[in-house]
Amino acid sequence: MTEARNETGTGTTDGPSAGTTGGPAGATGSPSAGAYEVVVVGGGAAGLSAALVLGRARRRTLVVDEGGPRNAPAAHLQGYLTRDGMPPAEFLAAGRREVEGYGVEIVRGRVTEVVNGGAGEFEVTVGASGQTVHARRLIVTTGLADEMPAVPGVAERFGRDVLHCPYCHGWEVRDLAFGVLATTPMSVHQALMVGQWSKDVTLFLHTVAEDELSDEDLRRLAAAGVAVVPGEVAGLVVAEDRLTGVRLADGTTHERSVLFVAPRPVPRTGLLERLGAELRETPFGSYPVTDPTGLTSVPGVWAAGNAAGFAEQVVNAASGGYRAAATLNGELLFADLDAAIARGQG
Ligand SMILES: Cc1cc2nc3c(=O)[nH]c(=O)nc-3n(C[C@H](O)[C@H](O)[C@H](O)COP(=O)(O)OP(=O)(O)OC[C@H]3O[C@@H](n4cnc5c(N)ncnc54)[C@H](O)[C@@H]3O)c2cc1C
Repeated sequence: MTEARNETGTGTTDGPSAGTTGGPAGATGSPSAGAYEVVVVGGGAAGLSAALVLGRARRRTLVVDEGGPRNAPAAHLQGYLTRDGMPPAEFLAAGRREVEGYGVEIVRGRVTEVVNGGAGEFEVTVGASGQTVHARRLIVTTGLADEMPAVPGVAERFGRDVLHCPYCHGWEVRDLAFGVLATTPMSVHQALMVGQWSKDVTLFLHTVAEDELSDEDLRRLAAAGVAVVPGEVAGLVVAEDRLTGVRLADGTTHERSVLFVAPRPVPRTGLLERLGAELRETPFGSYPVTDPTGLTSVPGVWAAGNAAGFAEQVVNAASGGYRAAATLNGELLFADLDAAIARGQG
């Protein structure tokens, strides 16, 4: 096995990746010839964390990453101890340097297909060129896509002053005038939650009818001091590239500096589905059924991060990747020992 450890974690390696990768932000590169022990699909927090564990465990590992992390629209990553406030791209670039320091290859590209040959033989197709590589185990960390509500201007301002997650952004916009765009009755929960960060909250009912709110919803909204405005939202009012208001279809406008929305999460589970992984329906999309380590119902295939669950923030995604990789490493070790014993070499 090639060892290409770089103690500083900041330089290039002389391992299988040398001259080929540059990581997702750089040249596209292509995987080396030959088989890998593990292919990690996706190079966000979950995938890179898994790869760090695998590289340090001297597993021949390839990360294939398309380069579109979920939090790309945000200027800063919040709530990750010691990394609070770091730009997401900087966080991932540091992660790639650390991972490559242990000889892991990272290539930019999309895994378009995976074929399970059984008995730990996966054929992975990378990129439009259709290059294939082989792996004994897979970790799928492809994340999810946020499908934005169809209100003009909302998608363009997402991550700036159109926000979805108070834990990600609430502190930075505290005490401003908040709007919440209701798209389901569950938006009441969001309106109540964001009240933790500002006492000036208006819930725009938009596509939700007033009679869809329960008495309990109405009592809680009143107790929290949340104003409720019926009527469809037609657009945003923006001045000097800042949100200043919300415009209703009847032409009235409401001054607001921040609008919270609930994008529809679309987990990127296509590869897992085609591998036959069992999925479970949730109100936030369907995710693979896994054991606590992220092992899916397909032997040899783990999932972590937002591809495995809606609620995973960056720190949880990294943790899930770590757990999956450490479990996989042990499983592979014992599989090889048992195979050697069975062949009479033990
Ligand atoms: C606007 C916004 C702000 C946020 N702010 C915060 C915050 O401040 N703090 C926080 O903790 N969380 C934040 N989050 C949540 C955070 O983005 C996720 O928790 C985190 O990105 C999950 O990491 P992941 O590795 O599972 O997925 P991702 O980071 O989304 O990475 C998945 C990677 O896989 C790649 N990929 C997908 N399909 C393929 C394929 N077939 N082949 C190859 N590669 C593929 C993608 O391009 C992507 O690079 C925010 C989210 C949004 C939308």
